[in-house]
Amino acid sequence: MTEQKQMNSIPAMSGEGLKRLVLIVEDEFVNRELLNAYLEQDYEILCAETGVEAMRLIYEKSETLSLVLLDLNLPGMNGLDILREIKKDIDLSRIPVIVLTSDAESEVESLSSGASDFIPKPYPRYEIIQARVRRSIELSENRDLIRWTERDHLTGLYNREYFYRYAEQYDVFHRDEATDALVVDVSHFRLINERFGKAYADEILKRIGSELLAIVKETGGIVCRREADTFQVYCPHMADYRSVAERVTDAACGDARGRVRIRIGVCSEVDKASDIERHFDHAKSAADTIRNSFTESVAIYNDELRDKEVYAERLLEDFRDALEQKQFLVYYQPKYHILSPQPRLCGAEALVRWKHPEFGLVSPGRFIPLFESNGLIRDLDNYVWRETAAQIRRWKDHPGRAVPVSVNVSRVDMLDPELTDTLRLIVEENGLDFGDLHLETTESAYTENFEQIIQTVARLRALGFKIEMDDFGSGYSSLNMITKLPFDVLKLDMEFIRTAFSENGNTGILKIMLDIADYLSVPMIAEGVETESQMLTLKELGCDIAQGYYFARPMPADAFGSLLAGSAD
Ligand code: C2E
Ligand code: MG
Ligand code: MG
Repeated sequence: MTEQKQMNSIPAMSGEGLKRLVLIVEDEFVNRELLNAYLEQDYEILCAETGVEAMRLIYEKSETLSLVLLDLNLPGMNGLDILREIKKDIDLSRIPVIVLTSDAESEVESLSSGASDFIPKPYPRYEIIQARVRRSIELSENRDLIRWTERDHLTGLYNREYFYRYAEQYDVFHRDEATDALVVDVSHFRLINERFGKAYADEILKRIGSELLAIVKETGGIVCRREADTFQVYCPHMADYRSVAERVTDAACGDARGRVRIRIGVCSEVDKASDIERHFDHAKSAADTIRNSFTESVAIYNDELRDKEVYAERLLEDFRDALEQKQFLVYYQPKYHILSPQPRLCGAEALVRWKHPEFGLVSPGRFIPLFESNGLIRDLDNYVWRETAAQIRRWKDHPGRAVPVSVNVSRVDMLDPELTDTLRLIVEENGLDFGDLHLETTESAYTENFEQIIQTVARLRALGFKIEMDDFGSGYSSLNMITKLPFDVLKLDMEFIRTAFSENGNTGILKIMLDIADYLSVPMIAEGVETESQMLTLKELGCDIAQGYYFARPMPADAFGSLLAGSAD
């Protein structure tokens, strides 16, 4: 807030033809008039005869005052006290002060208390006074301008670019000190923005910024806003950052506790010989590992995470070749209708695996999020859809029977303007019906570009595709929003089954989800059904379809073909 005020005042201060405002604090009439006469041509002048009057004017004009000329010998108040008061106030400290005194001894003391210059009494030639006044104002305006460019305008903290420069300088002076790189993130900030509006969200960011600044003032170190809702701190090593996370959370929430979750990623005791930006990237990776955690607020970058990153980089490198060499295999996991007396095979989900020449069979949990983060998922999904469609065609020919197979459509695909055409062509080229290929999309896909995705889904449904809402209940949609999502099948997130059937769980929540499905007039699929008793309970509650290890794990196409052949009505 205070930084904001300072920065906003710069353009006005340096505006063309604008007379800067100078305050003369001097109790002796003759001296005051003399200074006035020297400066009134170029400056707008205010005068104060006492310390009290001076402070009142300084506070009143804090935003527009360009300079204070301060006599050290004032009745009732020492000029040095005024100087110190100005310099300790963050709002006033930007105002340069030139000290006026006949006591040569106080020069050093004035300068070390923050005076920008010194004019001895009796006064030197008027040109000297004018030159010193001009120079002090210029220097302070230049400093303000630098502040303007190196700062983030919302929070007043350094911006990222300058932060790295200052971090390097920091290292020069703290070469042997153990230092940590921190990334401080707000979990699901986008939702705060959406639900409470930009002004409120900005206020939260400012509060976080101020609190982080207060913390580094205590501990040492520097802080910046990295981007949007992410901050960086470079500070002396601390063993535990949970109390910091707590402090920042408290400050961010104000009186609305629970609305904001802060997470901190730490790259501890950085190696000062290596690239500074990398330390913060590591800290960011650590912070990302607890993005969805309700219990953890601090994550440390460690060897395990490092190995994971190396592994991820390797997968990225190998992706193109793997696609070309058909290393990606599509497995099929059956879905069963459970309301009939005997469970009846009624569909399948296509799930990709990577048969990596070195790592063996890699599960999609390892690479899908990775490919989603950089767009490669589009090529992979395209491949999976084509493989699946071709496979359904083969099953339709032999054993002459097929069930609808759902493919996963990631959030990135949903934003592809060609998506509808791509899928239509795949169906047509394989001579399938649109009902043969179901599309699974997750609730979280809708959180961004809501309208655009709704339209895409509407076009797909108009063609005849069935939309299955995957991992339902794991997103952050409000019930109100859910009723606006267009879909044909609700696929309950596996976590509900885990929770409902855990030791102290109860199945009440399943009943609620079934009521929602009922209200929306769509069937529900329960995923992750692992035991007979789970299946029977779901059946009793009225769940239509189940998928899970109890029936079968995802299997290669051949195996599923046999299952199909064997289950022919
Ligand atoms: P999903 O779409 O929710 O798929 C269900 C996941 O649950 C699959 O994991 C499946 O193997 C697993 N599963 C099924 N039954 C059980 C059970 O009884 N117990 C347990 N513990 N797990 C069960 P998988 O194959 O590892 O896939 C993980 C996720 O990767 C999928 O979650 C999906 O989001 C994504 N995925 C898989 N294939 C593709 C694909 O081709 N394209 C895209 N975009 N995503 C895919
Ligand atoms: Mg799925
Ligand atoms: Mg799922």
